Amino acid sequence: MSDLRFDTQRIHAGYDPDDHRDSVSTPIYQTAAFDLSDPDRARRLWTKEEPGNIYSRIGNPTVEVLEQRIADLDGGSAAIALGSGMSAVTFAILLLGEGGGNIVSGSSLYGATQEALRHFYPKFGISTRFVEDRSDPNAYEQLIDDDTKAVYIESISNPNVELVDVDAIAEVAHRHGVPLIVDNTVATPYLFRPFEHGADIIVYSATKGIAGHGNVVAGLVVENGTFAYDRDRYPQLYERTYKLRDVAGNFRSVVDINPRTPITTALRLVYLGFIGAKLSPFEAYLVLQGLTTISERLDRQTANTERIVRYLETNSHVRKLNYAGASSSPYHTLAKRDFPRGVGSLLSFELDGGLDEVKTFITALRVFSYHVNIGDVRSLVANPAGTTHTVLPPDVQELAGIPANLIRLSIGLEDPDDLIEDLQQAFAKTYGR
Ligand SMILES: *Cc1c(COP(=O)(O)O)cnc(C)c1O
Repeated sequence: MSDLRFDTQRIHAGYDPDDHRDSVSTPIYQTAAFDLSDPDRARRLWTKEEPGNIYSRIGNPTVEVLEQRIADLDGGSAAIALGSGMSAVTFAILLLGEGGGNIVSGSSLYGATQEALRHFYPKFGISTRFVEDRSDPNAYEQLIDDDTKAVYIESISNPNVELVDVDAIAEVAHRHGVPLIVDNTVATPYLFRPFEHGADIIVYSATKGIAGHGNVVAGLVVENGTFAYDRDRYPQLYERTYKLRDVAGNFRSVVDINPRTPITTALRLVYLGFIGAKLSPFEAYLVLQGLTTISERLDRQTANTERIVRYLETNSHVRKLNYAGASSSPYHTLAKRDFPRGVGSLLSFELDGGLDEVKTFITALRVFSYHVNIGDVRSLVANPAGTTHTVLPPDVQELAGIPANLIRLSIGLEDPDDLIEDLQQAFAKTYGR
């Protein structure tokens, strides 16, 4: 399927009805374990000499279809599906940082990721150096040293819709023998394909635009299979252990098992094996169902968003509008270069006033619902300082561009005239006209 185009792959990749009793829709394999047949086959399954399913903590046929489909959509060598976007972020960072080291990252990141980089991963010996100017590739270079295990960025930042020159940052990382991890959640593989811009590992919250219907929490890690991980910097990928032995009993490393998929192999056999955090077959099915219409959803949601941005640009109560697709945005040139299909359905703006105005405005909205998801078919509103980024102390919020009067919108598939009228009446209630 890897020779076919995006719109064909999002429906067919990773699935052949011949392998599933001719079912045209992906079956939900709701089982904990799989029949092993006989002890010789069991041994071949455990040593990966024969592909097949053992136990749904480390692999399930429904989940595998999703993994293969995303790997194909991104042009990667393999993917692994996990129970949430945060488990994808954490698995990738803990694996690369195993044994200790540092991560070099921009400061404008998803709230939980930022907080984990600051306070949770350091408990496992992994610290983070935040660049001051996340759009300057040289700023990353200055912070990389022999102990750096990865550079970490978001292709479209949440909630301020900032872009970075992914190609330039990848080049800097590679010059120092370090892989680039890109959180591509907001963009999805439809709007941006990080491997074509030098990324080595992609992490996703599939909860958002990939599934798109606000009914499932899921995550994925994808690898491109081309990065040469240095033996001294990443000994965990070369360590030969009894757990990974072959059928003859020889100790193996994850690189020995498959040199093109060391990251997802380690995440599956070691991290999923010991930590769990698996995706359930039913949830994988829901993500696959959502993925089927990703192109139409994102085209329409982007068009709706562009209309709403044009409305907000003329509104005198909107102080600072954050949308990389807007002609007034400092990221407009990058958006044109790297995002030919637009930058999607997320935008934010600073509302005239403070917390009182934020409260009145959010409470007045009728069509927009107030909850913390993005990329949903429903339009929704949130105040990041009081919700998604509330774990960050006020000074860090300020640095990350999350003032108390910031409003985040994620635009869905409703009629855009209803959405604009809803915003109009909420502005009128807030400012008395
Ligand atoms: C939501 C989100 C995550 C975390 O994903 P969950 O599925 O909620 O665990 C990570 N990164 C970004 C950019 C997100 O928007």
